[in-house]
Amino acid sequence: MQFFNLKIQSIMKKKKEQSPNNLPEKTYKLGRACLYCGEPIEDQARATKTHCSRWIDKFGVIHDCKRKKHKLKTQPQEDILLDFAARQRETHRQILKVLTAHGDYVSTEILDAYNIILADNLGFSFNSGIAVAEFLGFKILSNSKLKTHKIEPHHE
Ligand SMILES: [Zn+2]
Repeated sequence: MQFFNLKIQSIMKKKKEQSPNNLPEKTYKLGRACLYCGEPIEDQARATKTHCSRWIDKFGVIHDCKRKKHKLKTQPQEDILLDFAARQRETHRQILKVLTAHGDYVSTEILDAYNIILADNLGFSFNSGIAVAEFLGFKILSNSKLKTHKIEPHHE
């Protein structure tokens, strides 16, 4: 029994001594840092490592600098798309108002008054003097000479 205990102790001791030696010591001479939070990155990390490793804190929150940085980069483009979508929906609402108040055949003044901008279309074509601007649910056929516009349903 005595011998067995000694043996265990000896193994435990060895393990304790071994584990720190198995890991290469971290150094920070290269001065690399996380591109998102600025936390230093050890020189021993692979060359392509540009962000902290993903980790989970005691509250279970996942910290992922690579993903956060990526999100930050793509944010402005997402905003442009959201603005574009919002503008299209707004134009759609304005066209509905024009149809209710003025019918489907209107002047440029009416379009201007309702802030319907033909250049903000989703698609545009020009056919024998008639410009066709496509919007959500509608297309507007414009006669630039007469300055008149015909609103038609547009389903695609
Ligand atoms: Zn980081």
